[in-house]
Amino acid sequence: MSAWAEARIRAGKRISLVPTMGFFHEGHLCLMRRAAQTADLVVVSLFVNPIQFGPGEDLDRYPRDMERDAGLAWKEGVAVLFAPAREAMYPELPQTRVTVAGLSEGLCGLTRPGHFDGVCTVVAKLFNIVKPATAVFGSKDYQQLAVIRKMTADLNWNIDIVAHPIVRDHNGLAMSSRNSYLSAEERRSALALVKAIDVARAMTGRGINDADRLLAELEIIIKMHDNVEIEYLTIVDSRNLQVQKNVDNQSLLAMAIRVGGTRLIDNAMLFEEAGEFQC
Ligand code: AMP
Repeated sequence: MSAWAEARIRAGKRISLVPTMGFFHEGHLCLMRRAAQTADLVVVSLFVNPIQFGPGEDLDRYPRDMERDAGLAWKEGVAVLFAPAREAMYPELPQTRVTVAGLSEGLCGLTRPGHFDGVCTVVAKLFNIVKPATAVFGSKDYQQLAVIRKMTADLNWNIDIVAHPIVRDHNGLAMSSRNSYLSAEERRSALALVKAIDVARAMTGRGINDADRLLAELEIIIKMHDNVEIEYLTIVDSRNLQVQKNVDNQSLLAMAIRVGGTRLIDNAMLFEEAGEFQC
């Protein structure tokens, strides 16, 4: 991978990297299309990174279908689908971790200790191997995007981090490889996230800007759905992920819930128009 990238860069080509864990859905494909707009060649990495999973998480059952993924990436005109073996990425137990303090600590960082260190470490390795000029990340994982941006700036990588909006299905559910775990009934419950976003935007549109009041209402709405447990439900400043007391035009509603055994996340800027994103 490294030799391929170096040869292309010497020939004057710019590479865009799309890091993924595979089991592609339309969200991943949109990121690939966006990547193609930002550089000459698209590299998609497919690696289910063990060091970003905690004990008891779904590392072993994470959905995989390499054949199908390869076909989809091919159709998108991806130059390389880089799918290293675990032993190739970690020939020995790594003793180095890349930590972005601060931004990694709230939201998903609270219930997934070490998760963002695992993400940053693997993305740092991928940046060094693929040497991209741009890298595309989905704002579905909003905190991840913020953490990667900060890591890239702090470590002086000359890589343009490109954010892609959340891609949703026709019901508004954010696409995720983990949606494949959901039964039909659980899928209906997962729409609690969509409902919460709609209601939050409607309330802020009516001038309600007290975050606690909004969140109390959203909690009731989410709990009306079967089999749903809230992991976090909060309103933060989208620039620094600090919890807000009053909503303003930087406010991001951020949520993680469990539906049955499946953990789902979603987020939305409160002052943006709802609507499906097409790519
Ligand atoms: P994953 O394979 O789930 O690790 O995701 C790989 C990349 O795709 C990450 O940058 C995610 O944020 C992004 N992504 C996943 N789902 C979506 C979605 N529904 N909309 C936009 N980006 C997404």
